[in-house]
Amino acid sequence: MSIANIEHYIGGCVAANTSGRTQDVTNPASGRVTGKVALGSAEDVSAAVAAAQAAFPAWADTPPVRRARVMFKFLELLNQHRDALAHLITAEHGKVFTDAQGEVTRGIEIVEFACGIPQLLKGDYTEQVSTGIDNWTLRQPLGVVAGITPFNFPVMVPMWMFPVAIAAGNTFVLKPSPTDPSPSLLMAELLRQAGLPDGVFNVVQGDKVAVDALLEHPDVKAISFVGSTPIANYIYETGARHGKRVQALGGAKNHMVVMPDADVDQAVDALIGAGYGSAGERCMAISVAVLVGHAAEAVLPKLVERAKALKVLDGENLAAEMGPIVTRAAHERISGYIEQGVKEGAQLLVDGRGFDGKQAGPGCADGFWMGGTLFDHVTPEMRIYKEEIFGPVLSCVRVHDLKEAVALINAHEFGNGVSCFTRDGNVAREFARRIQVGMVGINVPIPVPMAWHGFGGWKRSLFGDMHAYGEEGVRFYTKQKSVMQRWPESIGKGAEFTMPVAK
Ligand code: NAD
Repeated sequence: MSIANIEHYIGGCVAANTSGRTQDVTNPASGRVTGKVALGSAEDVSAAVAAAQAAFPAWADTPPVRRARVMFKFLELLNQHRDALAHLITAEHGKVFTDAQGEVTRGIEIVEFACGIPQLLKGDYTEQVSTGIDNWTLRQPLGVVAGITPFNFPVMVPMWMFPVAIAAGNTFVLKPSPTDPSPSLLMAELLRQAGLPDGVFNVVQGDKVAVDALLEHPDVKAISFVGSTPIANYIYETGARHGKRVQALGGAKNHMVVMPDADVDQAVDALIGAGYGSAGERCMAISVAVLVGHAAEAVLPKLVERAKALKVLDGENLAAEMGPIVTRAAHERISGYIEQGVKEGAQLLVDGRGFDGKQAGPGCADGFWMGGTLFDHVTPEMRIYKEEIFGPVLSCVRVHDLKEAVALINAHEFGNGVSCFTRDGNVAREFARRIQVGMVGINVPIPVPMAWHGFGGWKRSLFGDMHAYGEEGVRFYTKQKSVMQRWPESIGKGAEFTMPVAK
């Protein structure tokens, strides 16, 4: 099998790497190396930023409606290539094909939102703020902006960023995860086919070297980051120190509360789908089930049965519910957490270790396979409760009542997503009001907001003050200007030395 070279995309064409450094790209289902991705140097980053900087004046001057037309064309091409993108995701990430299709669709929704940019950029106007004077506000693009993205959504997360940034008149440099870099190049090609001028969208493949070069580059005006909390914290602090606007979305530990009045089957379906879907490698995955009162007795036997029956198969098999773990290193980390949970005294009800890849399908024997794992009697002091495992491991914590559930969740360092299953309207209302988490689901296990609402967690799940996409995204990628205007006919005589007030 041939090994693909996965390069940069700069100024409208594929650009060779100058660093001489590469990283293997592996198909997690087979464990086989399928590509070598470039690990860009500071020079590669400089070339991409220079291309973006050169493209900026003309693109920023292009009327928003014409920028929107490029987005409409891109949208059409994305719909045509939805499955091609999804296959690339499955090949390098491992998630099941239908889930990958869902990822692409959630990305496409942001492009649909960005098509409305003329409306979103409309400013405010006040006639006659003072006699003969009008005042209006407008929003202008920042310049070159960069996106640094994680492995777990190689299409959707970049699309949380670049459609809004570009439609608002910025030019963009994407630094994708080196684990699954290929979809970035297909997106670049589709943008080119959509008529996007060269240099408006660029890709630099790479690792910390490329990230640091972006963080330090004086012509990069803003950084959007999505990834783990320690790196998000680093990006936020380093970017801010270099005078950049930064939004840095971090890790998560999402709880799902099951109240005693909840529909048991619905709650079990939700826990299984949100705990093990995408092998738990979603920032909105449910990793903790908070079982309130007698909910535990009803839910646990069914959870055990369902976790054991998960269809763990090659992601290209349409019957698959869960695919492999993304890398061997991640597989080892997750296995280590399971061992740690046992040592700490949690009760291991289902053990996903030891799952044989041969059961996943032909060619899977050497892949990074694991079944679903389920723990009961997990307590807040345990590392498996406190830390983000980012794998198919669901921990059950038992509490007495809603108050205890809310206090538990509010004490956690992360605050990305949360869910509560109940039939009681007042419980639902109180929960949504009191919980210290950015995205809340009531009988919805994975409440990822739609394109026009914006995405973001609280506490150590987000550094910065604006959420991704939606109107917050438009604000992030633009700066406000206020213009006050009068004409010679309304200017009085003489210099004024007092603070101007409305007359
Ligand atoms: P990661 O933090 O390892 O990597 C994210 C990006 O940062 C990648 O592009 C990577 O190349 C770069 N990077 C890694 N180490 C770096 C370093 N030392 N210095 C500079 N850059 C570095 O994250 P990941 O493993 O790719 O993704 C999984 C993580 O992302 C999980 O923690 C998950 O919760 C989080 N995530 C969060 C959200 C959200 O919206 N909050 C969404 C998706 C994923």
